[in-house]
Amino acid sequence: MEPAPPDCDDLAITAVVIDFFGTLTVSAPDHVWMDAAAASAAPLGLAAGQWRAALDASFVERATGAIGDLTQSFRELARRCGVSPSDDALAAACQARIQAQHTLFQFRPDVPAALAVLRERGFRLGLLSDCTAELPAAWSALAVAEFFDTAVFSCAEGIKKPDPAFFQVVCDRLGVEPGQCLYVGDGGSRELSGAAGVGMTAMMLRADDWHSNSAHDREDDWSGPEIGSFAELTTLIGTPGLSARSLLAHNQDRH
Ligand SMILES: [Mg+2]
Repeated sequence: MEPAPPDCDDLAITAVVIDFFGTLTVSAPDHVWMDAAAASAAPLGLAAGQWRAALDASFVERATGAIGDLTQSFRELARRCGVSPSDDALAAACQARIQAQHTLFQFRPDVPAALAVLRERGFRLGLLSDCTAELPAAWSALAVAEFFDTAVFSCAEGIKKPDPAFFQVVCDRLGVEPGQCLYVGDGGSRELSGAAGVGMTAMMLRADDWHSNSAHDREDDWSGPEIGSFAELTTLIGTPGLSARSLLAHNQDRH
């Protein structure tokens, strides 16, 4: 019998692409976002609920840089809320926003060790985040930044998840094909379908605090592969050169 031809679609996984909020970081429940909104609403003289609604409604615009940097976007949102703040009030609101965002940069305890292990094993690491300008501004000083070969931010690229072009940017920066990437995320912005759509192997990080996370357009209906922690991820891809198909089979055995 003829041997089966090699499966050209079943590439070895050589890179791991990881989401930021709710994936590298612990979940942020709704009250955290409300507290954050209240902090930046106060200098503008706005009620927290109205400001929160304006922030939520403009997430796509803010995450793609469509209404400018932080100061410009806050001025525009204030206008939409019917106020015209002084420069000092606007600056205070922006400062409160930056401080509130920094409280969200709290990493899961098993993340640094897992990232170090992945690098040791020779995997290329890419960050892919739907975010506003506060994250890229803070990124290089964050404890996890040193582990990543590249960090791609929606607000800098002008596109966001699940746009296939956004996933292609991180592949190009890493010098890999989508089929060589394992994508890990909590599911915000329908990122898992987006990653799978371009040919990545997508896995949901469904950590213990997943249910309490408040994320934009999260694909709670994801029925594909999942892992429960970063420690589990390092166990799963312990074998360098594992193909995407073997990885999925391996993961299925564990769940
Ligand atoms: Mg996320």
